[in-house]
Amino acid sequence: MNIKDLSPAELGEFVSGKGIQPYRARQIGKWIYVRGVSSFDEMTDLSKDLRETLKSAFAVGDSIELAGEQVSKDGTRKYLFRLSDGNRIESVLIPDKKRNTLCVSSQAGCALGCTFCLTGTVGKIRNLKPSEIIDQYLMVNRFTNGSVTNIVFMGMGEPLDNIDNLVRALENLTDRNGPALSPRRITVSTSGLAPRIKELGDRISVNLAVSLNAPTDEIRNKIMPINKRYPIKELLKASVNFPVPPRKALMFEYVMLSGVNDSDKDAYDLGNLLSGINCKLNLIPFNEAQPLPYKSPSMERVLRFQEIVISFGINVRIRKNRGRDILGACGQLAATYPARKTTGGSAAAGAAI
Ligand code: SF4
Repeated sequence: MNIKDLSPAELGEFVSGKGIQPYRARQIGKWIYVRGVSSFDEMTDLSKDLRETLKSAFAVGDSIELAGEQVSKDGTRKYLFRLSDGNRIESVLIPDKKRNTLCVSSQAGCALGCTFCLTGTVGKIRNLKPSEIIDQYLMVNRFTNGSVTNIVFMGMGEPLDNIDNLVRALENLTDRNGPALSPRRITVSTSGLAPRIKELGDRISVNLAVSLNAPTDEIRNKIMPINKRYPIKELLKASVNFPVPPRKALMFEYVMLSGVNDSDKDAYDLGNLLSGINCKLNLIPFNEAQPLPYKSPSMERVLRFQEIVISFGINVRIRKNRGRDILGACGQLAATYPARKTTGGSAAAGAAI
């Protein structure tokens, strides 16, 4: 087990269970997350006995290995990581004027089978461990001289399908003896596991983005099989009750698929649906990728759609497509896995969750 698989509280329990003073856990956290050591022997202010105890129980250092890196013409960087069992995941660093946002994966593959997403064609391979989530941030931050400012859980996988490891990773990333990232700079995105939205809010404070993508159950059922289990009404109820950090708003994401969810009527339906909710809406023109069957709408269509939804008093932005040329944009991550299943919204998708 990598020591980063423990939450700060679990590390504290381990230390006190060995009869060692609690402040030692804080020292260990600083060595791992702030100084970035790769061996317990480097923790020179710990006794030799404690270092031996830690060595016999845990591994320390990187839990994943860099296997490839691609740079887009717009500056976006996609990192391919190999896991210790040979599986693969991807992370994407999106530089912008004021921030460098790292999009991290929470699973290898994904069970939810959204029909517009390449990861969904891979199927779920396995959950990532906390250390494998945290190391995407620690390693990319190291490669880029500490430049990562924000983290979004919008890479491979449904984060709430791996909620225990997600929360452990978040507790470490926000711990004041660790990287001490502000919860305001971390966003967890979900395709709509309504009961787990509540659970996440009960367990930790972060921003929430809900991948909505349709104004009606009829359309959403066709492109997101999870909607058959948690329809829009249930999803919205859980979402509006989520405790977002102070001065932050709930976010909705809307991937625009030409001829599927981008008509004027869809925009009016969406405006009615979100009207009165304190939220931001991001419109994401679909990023085309083989073998996905959809087309991206014209910019004229996207602007018209935006105009209609704005008329309902909703804050609507069009998300820039970054890293398209390296398959690093939203919905394009597959970590070199071939598609194992055809898209089409199997009713079974998500049933195991
Ligand atoms: S959009 Fe998210 S939840 Fe849906 S298949 Fe892709 S990774 Fe999974």
